[in-house]
Amino acid sequence: MIEILNYINGAFIPANSGTWLANRNPATGLHYAQIPDSDASDVDQAVAAAYAARQIWAQAPAKKRSDLLLQMAQGIRDRLDEFALAETNDNGKPLWLSKTVDIPRGIANLEFFATAILHGQSDAYHTDGLALNYTHHQPIGVAGCISPWNLPIYLFTWKIAPALAAGCTVVAKPSEVTPMTAYLLCQVAHEAGLPHGVLNVVHGLGPKVGQRIVEHPNVPAISFTGGTATGAHIARTAAPMFKKLSLELGGKNPNLIFADCDFDEMIAQTIRSSFANQGQICLCGSRIYVERAIYDRFMDAFVSKAQKLLVGNPLDEHTKTGALVSESHMEKVLAYIALAQEEGGRLRCGGHRVFPKGFEGGYYVQPAVIEGPANHCRSNQEEIFGPVVTVQAFDTEEEALGLANDSRYGLAAILWTKDLKRAHRVAHGLQTGIVWVNCWLLRDLRTPFGGVKSSGVGREGGFHALEFFTEPKNVCIKIH
Ligand code: NDP
Repeated sequence: MIEILNYINGAFIPANSGTWLANRNPATGLHYAQIPDSDASDVDQAVAAAYAARQIWAQAPAKKRSDLLLQMAQGIRDRLDEFALAETNDNGKPLWLSKTVDIPRGIANLEFFATAILHGQSDAYHTDGLALNYTHHQPIGVAGCISPWNLPIYLFTWKIAPALAAGCTVVAKPSEVTPMTAYLLCQVAHEAGLPHGVLNVVHGLGPKVGQRIVEHPNVPAISFTGGTATGAHIARTAAPMFKKLSLELGGKNPNLIFADCDFDEMIAQTIRSSFANQGQICLCGSRIYVERAIYDRFMDAFVSKAQKLLVGNPLDEHTKTGALVSESHMEKVLAYIALAQEEGGRLRCGGHRVFPKGFEGGYYVQPAVIEGPANHCRSNQEEIFGPVVTVQAFDTEEEALGLANDSRYGLAAILWTKDLKRAHRVAHGLQTGIVWVNCWLLRDLRTPFGGVKSSGVGREGGFHALEFFTEPKNVCIKIH
């Protein structure tokens, strides 16, 4: 049994309570590791360590912080296969995906922010000959970073890298369902010689560990990625303490397909945007709207490809769809597939549990394509977060835009057309934080990342993330 430990003040330690939580491999359903069942006392210890280290880290030259983060990136690169296998065993995603996307992106996040801080800028104003005004960007102190299970190291590093680069010390909690790569990252940080107390990772349950991080008076900034309901709870808790909040929440993203698109490219990418990572990406296009002129052609091609996606052992290089992250999540996804049919949807393929030979205890669902139901139905309004898409036809651009925007969410949208004017027009009209035109999940880490409406508050990415973890201070010097 693998034992995962907290990392507090440079030491690997169990929870103060001495109790553990079971960690399962979703591909088999087997309990293969255990993690500390930490509580408020462990968080308090971590915050005390981070608080004590904050001056030393904030005052360290940017080049030193940069070098240490680059060493951490290299540490992951040196153990890429080990990280990838750990991610797959924890999450159920295909190993090839961990190897080519999740772990490389963890490395890229660290490298990006390590080098971004070497190229920052600040403003200065000569005020009518009377004064000189300039702006300091000072690290905010101890940053609380809370991340979800769908892209474990990818999103964990997306938070801790800018926080550490900006000069903050960190108390972080990965999802209790996928703790393994955050634990390995602590080993890498330790080997790189990150000063004690700069990065602290406390494992355990959200309502205990996450809650205490959010409540702690010495944690002035919370960067959270997860569900909208949890985000609302965090906002309620943090608001009276006037904490800085970055909330990256759920999505129910529209994929608008116009008849003039490059059909083959659109089909290939729509299979990806629908079912990559078992549909467990906040950016997946789960509501597909197709212009009526190509609706039947689309359905035939799309359903035929979706049916052929090989579901099974995530370690098999031919597997396209691995296991869902947990039994309870699989049950939730299957319940939504049943609901969509009760709401009038027509299941065109998949949607049932699969029991691959040798992996019968795992949590597998055949990717589901559902025609209809109406836009106002729960299955079109609530986030399912699994290998499930609904498809509807539209006749006009206005109708497509209306359907796309008829949602409480506003994270991302996808748009397929060769008409340049329409691409700009529709992109402008979509109520989302991100619009991908003729592509999906093509990321430039410099761009603002985040959503509108119930998909969140604030932006991550590039200098937006570095700004979040710093406070601007205006210094005004009278010169006359
Ligand atoms: P949750 O909201 O359940 O959990 C996210 C994190 O918050 C976990 O670490 C969780 O711990 C923790 N948590 C739970 N309760 C509390 C609390 N009271 N206080 C503080 N922390 C708490 O989300 P999931 O892990 O289920 O992740 C899936 C969700 O994440 C989806 O809605 C998805 O759309 C969203 N997401 C958004 C992204 C974006 O960028 N907008 C990107 C990726 C995912 P524990 O695991 O122990 O419950």
